[in-house]
Amino acid sequence: MNVGAKILVIEDEASQLELLAYNLGVEGYGVFKAETGEEGLLILKEQSIDLILLDWMLPQMSGLEVCRQVKRKKATKNIPVIMLTARGEEDDKIRGLDIGADDYVVKPYLIKELMARVRAGLRNRSEQSGAEVLEFQSLSMNLVKHTVSVAESAVSLGPLEFKLLRVFMETPGRVWSRDQLLDRVWGDNLNVDTRTVDVHIARLRKALSKASDVGFVRTVRGFGYSLDTSA
Ligand code: CA
Repeated sequence: MNVGAKILVIEDEASQLELLAYNLGVEGYGVFKAETGEEGLLILKEQSIDLILLDWMLPQMSGLEVCRQVKRKKATKNIPVIMLTARGEEDDKIRGLDIGADDYVVKPYLIKELMARVRAGLRNRSEQSGAEVLEFQSLSMNLVKHTVSVAESAVSLGPLEFKLLRVFMETPGRVWSRDQLLDRVWGDNLNVDTRTVDVHIARLRKALSKASDVGFVRTVRGFGYSLDTSA
């Protein structure tokens, strides 16, 4: 279920960065690359990232500072951070875990081991969010039971509409472009185009409208869609 998860790699050594990106790509993850902490933080603002691999020793802003900023912001604090530290720097490890890093891997690492840690990080994350019920005003989504309701009346959704709604419920008010939704919901399926998004948005709206007069999914002309009630 984690195929297509988005992983941000922040690593200033180009060869390491490419090696990681290549191996993560082979595993089916979407990879975003940054060579500095600043670049990484920018990507975090624009993408919904599922896990961060963060090198400790970075030029300018250190890995420690990047981690601190990620863990301080509400929007990013639940993203698992795996720190990549140099051998023997035990103090770094402790400081990293102190400021909220979720795991660490000592360099030089075995790719196989790192991939196992990535899978574990993503698994923890989906278990955590799996325990949650997402709510937005009268809308409620149970991710464990796979049910949706509006003001207590059940709404029946197809799997793609369910995934779309989940993306919206996780980020109320955020405007998603059709391309971003394609990427997020359909992943690497290249046989679908942006009109497909419109089709499934229409189905989602229709299903929700059976249970409520409130239009939850708003069209933002020229951009895409967002979840709010000014629809
Ligand atoms: Ca480095």
